[in-house]
Amino acid sequence: MAEPEKCSIDFTRCALSALHTLDVAIANHMDWLRHLHRTLVCAGKGNPDDLAADAHCRCRFGQWYYGQGMADLGNEPGYRAIEGVHRDMHVAAARLLARHDAGEAVDVGEYDVFMEHAVGFKQRVRLFQYEIMNRVCVVDQLTGVWNRHAMHLRLAEEQERIQRGGPAAVLCMMDIDHFKLVNDGHGHRAGDVVLQEVAAFFSRRLRRYDAVFRFGGEEFLICLPATTIGDARTLLDRMRAELSGTDIAVADTCLRVTASLGLAVLGPRSTVEDAIEWADHALLVAKASGRDQVRVWDGELDADVGSD
Ligand code: GH3
Ligand code: MG
Ligand code: MG
Repeated sequence: MAEPEKCSIDFTRCALSALHTLDVAIANHMDWLRHLHRTLVCAGKGNPDDLAADAHCRCRFGQWYYGQGMADLGNEPGYRAIEGVHRDMHVAAARLLARHDAGEAVDVGEYDVFMEHAVGFKQRVRLFQYEIMNRVCVVDQLTGVWNRHAMHLRLAEEQERIQRGGPAAVLCMMDIDHFKLVNDGHGHRAGDVVLQEVAAFFSRRLRRYDAVFRFGGEEFLICLPATTIGDARTLLDRMRAELSGTDIAVADTCLRVTASLGLAVLGPRSTVEDAIEWADHALLVAKASGRDQVRVWDGELDADVGSD
């Protein structure tokens, strides 16, 4: 499966219904296969829809695939690969039924080809379901950004790249300010919406190869590969300012939130754990200095980070 977009919100939304739809497609085709065999083995005429040149568009799966389909998954190679084998299966079935209706014996070679496509169709559908499940396992279900499990994998890869001589990355720990007040004042559901909107806000503005992870609660870790600390600061400070002026619609009202961000370099001599700790320390300094700001860990930040 192609690497998911850094913001997988749309994917996550339709993934579970996709798994169900594909299960139904397999079940329907198993029924169809049983009827087809009964027609071929016992007396009976082929269903006109199965004999049509566009039989693959007429079955229930075909009507769905060529009709509404999976809008959000339509470009996935695994999804598109189902189409060819599904069509081939129906074309081969139509050939068998046409011979049968003409009173001819079923050709063994044609039957083998048909069964190969029928098995291939089921395998393709199952493969795509596994791809969906794999993807769901690394995505945070509420916000659609990468989860913490994915974060460990991706940051380990990033560190390896840097240690092989690649350019350093910047890690940013971002925490929504006074988020508890959103929950307390507007309810947990409103808090969830704010988390989703803030995650989407950053995801949609970052570059394709940057990544946003939900670190936990209302904290997100952002990884900016091949970025200088100065550029990261400028970029993220612009986003921070924009966020503070953005209305977030929740139920029948609009909220605004701010965020504090701490940055640190992930270089060739730092471990991922070090860099996360430094970014977290810079975040605490941003909080202690009044929130709604970006601070950079430079090895010497020692502001009073006591809570207020
Ligand atoms: P600060 O500015 O210091 O970060 O204050 P804060 O209120 O943002 O931080 P605090 O740690 O006091 O509260 C975070 C709250 O986030 C507490 C917790 O209930 C809430 N929270 C964590 N995960 C979720 C979630 O998935 N959904 C919702 N609605 N709330 C969550
Ligand atoms: Mg917070
Ligand atoms: Mg927090």
